[in-house]
Order: sequence, then C-alpha cells, then structure tokens
Amino acid sequence: MKLFLTLMAASALADAAPAKNIDALSSDYIHLSLAMTPHDSNFVDAYYGPAQFQEDVLKSPMRLDQIQMQAQALKSHLNGQKKPGANTIEGLRIEYLKKQTDAMLARIDMLQGKKMRFDDESAILYNAVAPHYDRNHFNAIIKQIDELLPGPGTTVERVNAFRSQFVIPRDKLMSVFETAIQECRKQTLKHISLPEGENFKLEFVTGKVWSGYNWYKGNFQSLIQINVELPIYIERAIDIGCHEGYPGHHTYNVLIEKNLVNDRKWLEYSVYPLFSPQSLIAEGSANYGVEMAFPEALKKSFQRDVLYPLAGINPALLDKYDALLKLISQLSYAGNEAARDYIDGNMTAQQAIDWLINVELYPIEKAPQRIKFFDANRSYVINYNVGKDLVRNYVEHHSRAAETELEKLELRWQIFQQLLSTPMLPGDLKVTPALEK
Ligand SMILES: [Zn+2]
Repeated sequence: MKLFLTLMAASALADAAPAKNIDALSSDYIHLSLAMTPHDSNFVDAYYGPAQFQEDVLKSPMRLDQIQMQAQALKSHLNGQKKPGANTIEGLRIEYLKKQTDAMLARIDMLQGKKMRFDDESAILYNAVAPHYDRNHFNAIIKQIDELLPGPGTTVERVNAFRSQFVIPRDKLMSVFETAIQECRKQTLKHISLPEGENFKLEFVTGKVWSGYNWYKGNFQSLIQINVELPIYIERAIDIGCHEGYPGHHTYNVLIEKNLVNDRKWLEYSVYPLFSPQSLIAEGSANYGVEMAFPEALKKSFQRDVLYPLAGINPALLDKYDALLKLISQLSYAGNEAARDYIDGNMTAQQAIDWLINVELYPIEKAPQRIKFFDANRSYVINYNVGKDLVRNYVEHHSRAAETELEKLELRWQIFQQLLSTPMLPGDLKVTPALEK
C-alpha cells in the first residue's frame, strides 16, 4: 500500500510540476546518483562534476524511498521531453538518461530486497541479455584444447600445468606492466588524439575481487590498480594495459570528459553509476580495445620481442600458448552460465567453482576469487563478453564498406572513437539482421 501511494505521489509530482529542461533533469540525475552512495557504496564508480552536488547530498542525505520517488519523477519528466529528432545526439542524450534512470530504479528495488533473476537483472541494468549455451557447446571447444595439449592427466591438469610457465615473476611485474601499458598508449595515440596532460598512475593492490580497476579522477587522470594477490599470466599485461588504460577505460573516460562534459556541458556524464547500461559500453569497448590496439601480428611480435624476454619467459612457447588462449577465449560464455546458475540458486558456490575450472578452464587458483566477483557484481559479468561482442559487431558492421585493409582499419578506429564519445546505449549497438550483409 505504501509503495502504491509512493508511486502515485511520484507521478502526481511529475504531472503537476512544470516541464523541466534537460539540463535541470541532468542535475537531478547527478544529485540522485550521488545520494545513492550511503545505501550502496559501489553505485557511483566515478564523479568529477561540481562539488556542490556532493555537498548537497552530504548536508541533506536522502532515504532510499525518497531517491526512488524522485527518480520516478525524473523518469516522467524525461518521458515528457520533446523528441529532438531520431538519432540526433540530443535525442540519444535523453534516451541514455532514461535507461540510466531505469537502472537506478532497478538497483533501488534490489537494495529494498527485490529478488531478480539473472537475465531480468542484466536486461534492466545493462540493457542486454547473455545468450544461453549448454555444456555440449563448450565440450566441443574443450576437445580441441585436449588435442592441442596431449599427454597424461586430465585436460584441466594439462592446461593448468602448461599455463604455469607463463606466470610473470613477482619482481618483474612493474616493469612488464609499465612497458605494456606504454605500448597500448602508443598504439592508441596513432589513431585517437587525446587532450594534453592526460595521464594515469599505476598501483599494485591485494585483497580485491577484480584483477584490475580504473578509478577515473577527472581532469583526464586515472588511477589504475592491478591486483597482484594471485599469479598473473603474461597475456594479462596487454589485456589489462589496454582494458584499464588505452584504448579502454582511461581513454573512454577522457573522451567523455572532453567531448560531453567539457565541450557540450552535459554534466550528467561526470557521474558514472556502475550498475547501469554505461558499464556495458565501458567494459565492452575496453575488451574490444585490446584487438583494436593489437592486431594479431603486432601482438605476437611485441610479446615475442619485448614482454616475454622482459618477464624471462621462453618466447619459443608463444605460438602454442597463443593457440591455447584463442580456444580458451571461446569458453568465456561458460562464465556467464556459472554466474547465472549461481545467482539464480541453481548451483552452489562449489559447483560454480567446479564449472569455472572444468568448463571455462579458468585458472584453478583464481576460481574462488571469481565467485566473490559474482557475489559483489552479479549479472555485471555479461558486460565483458556480451559487451565486447556487441561493440565488435557494431564497429565491424559500420566499417564494412571500406575497400582496402588500411581504410578498414582507419574506419574502425573512427567508429570506435565515435562510440566512446557519444551517448550510446547497448541497444544502439545491435546490428539488425537485415543490415548485416
Ligand atoms: Zn573494466
């Protein structure tokens, strides 16, 4: 009954209130996002907008039901905005705010105890649903891995034994990561120009549920943290360097700050709510960015000539390891299956660990940490692989008209940069089948 009255009050408020312009709604969105922090410390991932908003929410903290009511009013006002024309950047701005507000409302529901199934949750929070695959799908890939690494013992044992040769020694971690991230930066700057003064700080940490994190500070600065608690495999140097730095999160945040916050004065972009569709774009582009910055031949030569020798790993093993990693990457959707079944109560933590180790071929020592990530972030996991595939399809689709490989490469970077600089939603990335040819 109370909820019904609250809903009534919110819609009455929106109906009765004079129409607000989009900049006023943008301020409401920032205010409400920041007001979530006492209820959910992970909700705001980054904020570098006016300090006044933070001072306001500190001075007058809001209860969750108050945030909910005002977010509903915000949504009504957004629905009432005049459409500035299909596919204009102003139109995308409104649609983006609507979906972000829907995600905020869903997160409030969850904090109030609403149980949501994995796929329903990802649809509302991230504007996407991961495909379902059964074990046979993954077994066919595991069979190929089995053939690549023949010998005694199970496939899992052989994979883990082989992989153990590619751990970066502890005393080489900083030099390997610094070298990798500088190369990611160099490759990215060939295609994307970033504002002067952009920079990052690299730090090693322990005791986290993630392997790397970008904390964006504003003014084109990032703090990149790498979790060194567990062994780190050599391929992660390029992966993390690109993902957290260039052309991943740091680049994305810098372009958003430059193009949307500073140039257009769209301040809502100075707050980044983690459990929102923006995360699918962020994680998907960061993962696809690895392929953008390091096409296969370059990735191989840079690893063979620079990173492997730096880490003291035998470069003669590169080709076989690369072939193994390619096959293992095809198992990444097995991680979504484990997360879905675990979150939906169809698997225990131990069953999910066993699935990760035996079906995704996840490194044995890292599997328990992954369960902690599921506990903390739930359906967020789909942002990495579903996001990457959506971004890849979108970029490749829109660059398909280029005639030469060189033109195609340049066009891909243009589309990619545009994606990182405009208010795109995961739904905007879907390439319709009719257009796919
Ligand atoms: Zn990320």
